[in-house]
Amino acid sequence: MPKVLIVEDEEPISLMLKYNLEAEGYEVDVCGRGDDAEIRLRESVPDLLLLDWMLPGTSGIELCRRLRLRETTERLPIIMLTARGEETERIRGLSTGADDYVVKPFSVPELMARVRAILRRSNPEAVSTLLKSGDIELDRETHRVRRNSKEVHLGPTEFRLLEFLMTAPGRVFSREQLLDGVWGHDVYVDERTVDVHVGRLRKALNKGKARDPIRTVRGAGYAFNDQFNGV
Ligand code: CA
Repeated sequence: MPKVLIVEDEEPISLMLKYNLEAEGYEVDVCGRGDDAEIRLRESVPDLLLLDWMLPGTSGIELCRRLRLRETTERLPIIMLTARGEETERIRGLSTGADDYVVKPFSVPELMARVRAILRRSNPEAVSTLLKSGDIELDRETHRVRRNSKEVHLGPTEFRLLEFLMTAPGRVFSREQLLDGVWGHDVYVDERTVDVHVGRLRKALNKGKARDPIRTVRGAGYAFNDQFNGV
């Protein structure tokens, strides 16, 4: 599994990132200071670095510059996290050698998509694009879903919902967690919306007599049921 190092001093952000990355199967390490991160990166190099701009110790931008000068980290994929309004800073960030940047507050699904895209470029074997469970196959690259080898047509939200649920089979997600993970936490939608889209997803997936792979957990939310045996 790919290793990701998060260098971020705002704990709510680093916790949220860690949670979401681990849910996708990444191995995650967190560091709250630029100078500590530099020491850690001398000892071991991850597959990807999520680097905050403003950090105690050494700033993200300075750390990025130093990493590019070092042989072991000159090609390490780096995504910079910047605060809104640092437009010129962002440009400097890219010229300093970051591969990509996101502006806070960012949408989690979008950041996850960028993480996957960058890792796929740098380390194609490490990121699987195909999620499989029972007779369901979801291809993240082509955005196609098949059940029992037959194509299932899903709207973009239903696709993201299924993708999100399938990355953590068996785990129960609350409606709030699904909203954060699928719609993004800066978007305002009612929790009832989740039920509507789960309903549509089920309808598209369970045509005919197929077993329902989505489990409703009363009072808690929804889970992808990895015990379902297909037909
Ligand atoms: Ca910061």
